[in-house]
Amino acid sequence: MRGSFDDIPVTTLFPLLPDADVDAWRQAARTLDAARCGADAADWEWFPEHAAFSPAQEGTPVILGLNVIGNARQGDHLEFLLQVVWTDLGQLAVEVTVNVACWCETDHATHDVDALRLVVGEEISLPEAFRVGARRLASRLADPHDADHWRATAGLPPRRTS
Ligand SMILES: [Zn+2]
Repeated sequence: MRGSFDDIPVTTLFPLLPDADVDAWRQAARTLDAARCGADAADWEWFPEHAAFSPAQEGTPVILGLNVIGNARQGDHLEFLLQVVWTDLGQLAVEVTVNVACWCETDHATHDVDALRLVVGEEISLPEAFRVGARRLASRLADPHDADHWRATAGLPPRRTS
C-alpha cells in the first residue's frame, strides 16, 4: 500500500509502539518531507503482511519504506531508500541506503552503498532509530551528488560512456 506518511497505519504495522512514540515518529517524517523540497509527498509504501515476524521469512521483509529517486543521467540509476525491515533474528531495523546502477564488468544490476543499519533493541528504540535514519536521509537529499560520487565512495567503477 502506498500513501503519504499520515496515511500509514503505524499502530497496525508496529503494534508494540506506544502512542507517544507514534507522535515522535510523525515529527521525524515531517522533517523528511520538508527536506524533499516539494517532491511528491505520497510515496511511502507499507506491507501489513510483514507486520509480524515470520521465522520462515526469505530475504529481508520490508514493513515500511520510502524511496526517493535522485537525478541520474539517462541509463543510470540513483535512488535513496529508508526502510524498516526485519532482521534474520526477528529484530526490527531501520536501514538507509543509496542505491546506484552497477557499471562493473560483471553486471550486478544495482548496488546499495553508504548503508546505515540501526538494529532496534536496548540501545536504540524504534522511533529513535527512525529519527536517526530520517535525519540521515534528509542530509543526503539536502546535499545532492550524482551516482558516480556514490559509486566512487564505495570503490565501484564509474558510469561508462561509450
Ligand atoms: Zn556491480
